[in-house]
Amino acid sequence: MRLSQLFTKTLRESPKDEESVNAKLLIRGGFVAKNSAGVYTFLPLGWRVIEKIINIIREEMDAIAGQGIFMPAMVEKKYWSATGRWDVEIGYEVRGKKDKESNFVLGWSHEDILASMAAKFINSYKDLPRAVYQIQTKFRNEPRAKSGLLRGREFLMKDLYSFHESEKDLFRYYDAVKEAYFKIFERCGLKAVYTLAGGGPFTMSNTHEFQVLADVGEDTIFVCGPPAGGCGHAENSEISKLKNGAKCPECGGRIEEKKSIEVGNIFPLGTKYSEAFGLRYLAKDGGQKHVVMGSYGIGISRLMGTIVEIHNDGIGILWPENAAPFKVHLIVLDHRNQEATAPERSSVRGTADNVYEELLKAKVEVLYDDRVVQSPGEKFADADLIGCPVRMVVSEKTLKKDSVEIKKRGKSETVLIKAEKLKEYV
Ligand code: ATP
Ligand code: MG
Repeated sequence: MRLSQLFTKTLRESPKDEESVNAKLLIRGGFVAKNSAGVYTFLPLGWRVIEKIINIIREEMDAIAGQGIFMPAMVEKKYWSATGRWDVEIGYEVRGKKDKESNFVLGWSHEDILASMAAKFINSYKDLPRAVYQIQTKFRNEPRAKSGLLRGREFLMKDLYSFHESEKDLFRYYDAVKEAYFKIFERCGLKAVYTLAGGGPFTMSNTHEFQVLADVGEDTIFVCGPPAGGCGHAENSEISKLKNGAKCPECGGRIEEKKSIEVGNIFPLGTKYSEAFGLRYLAKDGGQKHVVMGSYGIGISRLMGTIVEIHNDGIGILWPENAAPFKVHLIVLDHRNQEATAPERSSVRGTADNVYEELLKAKVEVLYDDRVVQSPGEKFADADLIGCPVRMVVSEKTLKKDSVEIKKRGKSETVLIKAEKLKEYV
């Protein structure tokens, strides 16, 4: 992608109406635009990041036999009434201009409608287990939507649902999802803490959250943490009886109180939804039993915000390799030749153009700052802000050595690589 053609521009100043680091950097870099409180557009750079994250999630969901589906955002009242969830306050009701009252809620979770559909397809133990997932926008009327992507009123979620014969089989799958989640977060450059939590409006039993330690987080957890060499046992303060400095119930280590961001949440639902929607199956012993369900969420847009909160140095983002919008940010410094017309174009620009074409041929994702009027300082500042893992510079200086200057984001050392060796390097 040529930066001169990009739909967006970077901003010097932080937006006045944003407090969180993720929103400030993502807006300045042109990754997202704020349309309303808690409502954002993903712009070309930001959408590339989202697509990277989605691909990782898809791979890991498919690897545990998840089947992709796509459910409606408008969910009719009849589906919510069976579980009493029509009245849950985070819902946005949908009313047609001509209608007297609303008969739909914008989906904020999809257990209800899915359980009712599954009853059409799951009849016997031979139809179990099954798992389906979707990646979709969720809508929640969040009272505290001021943490950028961390808490949207409209946000992207991956939600997976599983159907089982027994609790035993549910927990077998629950463990498989847990492992898949750890892989996803690790591939996104995040370390998540597996945390015991309550069930909220989903289920009566305990659930588990994946928490990333960060001071901006809205959650407080008690963790027998790696900083103190602990075992990793963690409980959400909302349900925990632990205290800072307490003894870990698992290993006797020291419990610490930490702020954290919940990036994922898994729920052993049991038979709550299958009872409400008559989701039964013919068991091996000939009897009719309720299907046992689980549901599993990841906040995709929150995950992107969390990556920025964890991986930044104040002046910009340091994207982990797998989530970066582009791997390489190529800069051409031919500012002294900016008045040159086409036939006299400097060999600096010619060389940079070639490097760009070669990288594209080698299937390297590269953002090429080919802009003409920006100063070197502005170009470097934008590269730091946008935060691709590798910066390459072609200038008069590098041309004399027949090389390209390479620097990793977050490191200060630069190396010169001969132009013909570049392919090997990447
Ligand atoms: P929270 O406790 O943060 O309000 P939740 O427990 O209600 O979230 P779930 O219903 O478990 O959230 O949703 C699954 C995942 O979706 C969460 O783990 C979180 O990563 C993400 N998520 C939930 N609410 C939001 C939101 N308002 N904005 C962005 N992501 C969200
Ligand atoms: Mg939760």
